[in-house]
Amino acid sequence: MKKEIWVLMEPGKTEGFSEASLALLNPCRTIADSLKATLTAVAFSGDAEQAANTAGAYGADRLLLADFNPPDPSKALADLAEQERPWAILAAACDDVQEWLSQSAARLNTGFVSNCSGFVLDEKTDCLVWTRPIPGENCMCDITCPVLRPQIGTIRPGIWKKKQRLENTFPASISRFTPTQSGSARVRVLELMQKLTEDGIDLENADIIVSGGKGVGGPDGFAPLKELAAALGGAVGASRTAVDRGWISGIHQVGQTGHIVSPKLYIACGISGAIQHLTGMLGSGTIVAINTDPNASIFQYSDYCIVGDLFEVVPALTEEIIQHRNSF
Ligand SMILES: Cc1cc2nc3c(=O)[nH]c(=O)nc-3n(C[C@H](O)[C@H](O)[C@H](O)COP(=O)(O)OP(=O)(O)OC[C@H]3O[C@@H](n4cnc5c(N)ncnc54)[C@H](O)[C@@H]3O)c2cc1C
Repeated sequence: MKKEIWVLMEPGKTEGFSEASLALLNPCRTIADSLKATLTAVAFSGDAEQAANTAGAYGADRLLLADFNPPDPSKALADLAEQERPWAILAAACDDVQEWLSQSAARLNTGFVSNCSGFVLDEKTDCLVWTRPIPGENCMCDITCPVLRPQIGTIRPGIWKKKQRLENTFPASISRFTPTQSGSARVRVLELMQKLTEDGIDLENADIIVSGGKGVGGPDGFAPLKELAAALGGAVGASRTAVDRGWISGIHQVGQTGHIVSPKLYIACGISGAIQHLTGMLGSGTIVAINTDPNASIFQYSDYCIVGDLFEVVPALTEEIIQHRNSF
């Protein structure tokens, strides 16, 4: 029987689905191709035609669409998986999905790996290898579900960008299913809101991020970083230490318990490079670190290492950028 990989599609503003769900179709397509498996987008609500077009454009072969939004999505999904026997089920790690998907896994008597920062296919064992930080520890671990199926896990948003298929774009084939319960959903989506930073930028989709850590020394220390970010047209990020000290709001936090970001350029200012911070930004294209300590661990992961005081380096960079821009 042909294997199936399911991706749960959360409702969202872009083309009917959340950015994180669409982005997840991208790595799943690669794995489905390696396994010669079917990639199926599973949705509990949405307009069938639009959902099939979007799911197809982002790589899904098939759309499994519920006839109505079930009162208990955990049971509805478990019942559906019981009948269809997918090889794996993945979803973007949003709070409510994490909660009910773990219950689906329990109903299916299989494993559940939450909040992963990555996953790869191990063809030898025919397993997904999920990567996630060990809670409260300074290390990452790989987890597999060697025997039980389906393999179920959630992936933190921001690790992959959504990517449309450029060739062979066709709508996903539509299969409708009727959830096994009647009644109305306990949760109704009234409005979809996007989390933006104070500068109005969606951190997870920013191309450039200038981040500050404990080295900025206080709330005022973020001022030169904001100027650099403005000169570059980017957003301001922060380490958890800066957030915990109340120097900047939590919406700016990058890392294991903050946003996972993958901008083209990440400038880390006064950030030491703890694993929990790295987890959130190692997918960045180019990493520049500014730190007074030549042995700071962030330098091991950086493309450009600037040993110096951020209060000298950052304003100098901003001035250079403004001058360079004005010379055109
Ligand atoms: C369960 C758990 C989850 C966590 N989640 C996150 C998370 O999501 N994100 C996160 O960031 N952390 C997280 N942490 C915290 C993490 O372990 C680190 O404590 C934190 O990232 C350190 O922040 P920092 O680099 O700003 O501070 P520090 O480690 O104190 O580093 C400050 C750096 O600034 C440099 N510096 C000082 N002055 C200057 C100057 N004038 N110019 C240039 N450099 C200077 C210093 O040399 C030093 O390297 C988590 C921890 C746990 C236990």
